[in-house]
Amino acid sequence: MTFRTRFAPSPTGPLHLGHAYSAILAHDMARAAQGQFLLRIEDIDRDRAKPEWEALIFEDLSWLGLTWDEPPIRQSDRRDSYEAALDALWARGLLYPCSCTRRDIAEALTAPQEGSAPPIGPDGPVYPGTCRNRPRKGPRPRDAHLRLDMGAALAAIGPTAPRFTETGPDHAGTIFTAPENYLGGIGDIVLARRDFGTSYHLSVVLDDAAQHITDVTRGADLFEATRIHALLQRLLDLPTPSYHHHRLIRDETGKRLAKRDDARAIRLYRAEGVTPEDIRRRIGL
Ligand code: GLU
Repeated sequence: MTFRTRFAPSPTGPLHLGHAYSAILAHDMARAAQGQFLLRIEDIDRDRAKPEWEALIFEDLSWLGLTWDEPPIRQSDRRDSYEAALDALWARGLLYPCSCTRRDIAEALTAPQEGSAPPIGPDGPVYPGTCRNRPRKGPRPRDAHLRLDMGAALAAIGPTAPRFTETGPDHAGTIFTAPENYLGGIGDIVLARRDFGTSYHLSVVLDDAAQHITDVTRGADLFEATRIHALLQRLLDLPTPSYHHHRLIRDETGKRLAKRDDARAIRLYRAEGVTPEDIRRRIGL
């Protein structure tokens, strides 16, 4: 099978050195394997995604010397596919509507209860299940978030634990996630946000499958989320690619770079006359 990987930035700000690392690493891995490197614009957040940031992504990547093998896809063009998957999960009774705010959830979790502090999953505090008994019949609701009923999802995939192959520096090997970790450590995650009509987790697994990605290359910050992706792939009958979660680029104080780290934006290095080779050296590639 031809090695196919991708870089999937969100056009919500300038690319910085951390993005450059992710994109160059994925690109070089594809070239070394005589495979393909693809691009995907992750613009489901219509409020924060801007065409000017998208244009700058293409400029920065071209300046870095990267080439991609197929026209980029955009999540905003893939709504039908997200809707179809949500319809199918809804028809199977695996989703329920939830109108809890962050504050409702925080309050439910701080209510006097036995045991220690509530666990934090890849998406934040594990949802306490407040809306789990809301009706799951009739047309799929659009006026609420839709959560995955994790218990029902685990029952639907059967006894074999979801797994994925990891080749990154921190966890090489086959990664299994036991049902109790899904229930206690991840919980009923949101699969469709009311405002986006989808979610990062749902879109990313559908898009990786649509782009026939065999090897996902991305930052170590998404390692835990991959447990969710492996489960969704099983539920939706999609192939599970191999994963390579790479180290994160940090600033002098050890903090990982974020979109607001404009000082490390590729466009500013470009403007200062730094070369793509200097960028590679600076990030250790
Ligand atoms: N869009 C995500 C980001 O910019 C990357 C998601 C992924 O690679 O799976 O952080």
